[in-house]
Formats: sequence, structure tokens, C-alpha cells
Amino acid sequence: MLRMPQGQEKWIFVGTYFFERKDPSHQEVASRLWKESGKYIDYLGEWHTHRQPWPTPSSLDCSEWKKIGNMKRPLSIVVAIVGLEGVWMGIVRKEDIFTLVSA
Ligand SMILES: [Zn+2]
Repeated sequence: MLRMPQGQEKWIFVGTYFFERKDPSHQEVASRLWKESGKYIDYLGEWHTHRQPWPTPSSLDCSEWKKIGNMKRPLSIVVAIVGLEGVWMGIVRKEDIFTLVSA
């Protein structure tokens, strides 16, 4: 489990259905914790919400996840989108996005 220090969450919301990551400190903190733990602690994935009853990944979600999936590590990440009624969960590995749950 990766716990972010308080005050590190600087997600900038620029619209109802999209956001922009502005703070490079997220990567810095994750890399530092990974190194300090002897490569034991790692980034597992991420989640966010959609203001849709039954969420599905947007094209921006997919393109951002594919960027992460193409990094050397981790080999795969878990991604989740929580909607107003349901949830979508998947696995990203390189350019591939696999749906695990859509309910
Ligand atoms: Zn999304």
C-alpha cells in the first residue's frame, strides 16, 4: 500500500469529465518510496470517479493509462472508475486494457 503524505494531492480539475495532472511530486514521492523500500513498495494503480451511472473509460483515460502501461515498471496496473451507480475496473499492461469488472 502506498500512502501519500498529506498535502501531496494536487489534482487540478478542469472540467466535469476530465482533469489534468499538474503536480510532478506524485511521481517523485512514488519513486522515492520504491527505492527506500528496496523495491518492495510499488505503484499498484489508480482510481477516479465519473459523473455517469455506469462508468466506462474515456479516450483520455485510455491514453493516460497506456502511457503508464508502457513504462518499465510496474508490469501491470489496476485501474478503477467509480460511477454514480456502478464501477468499472481493469488491468493495463503496455497498450492493452482488459476489463475485469463492469457492473
Ligand atoms: Zn475517467
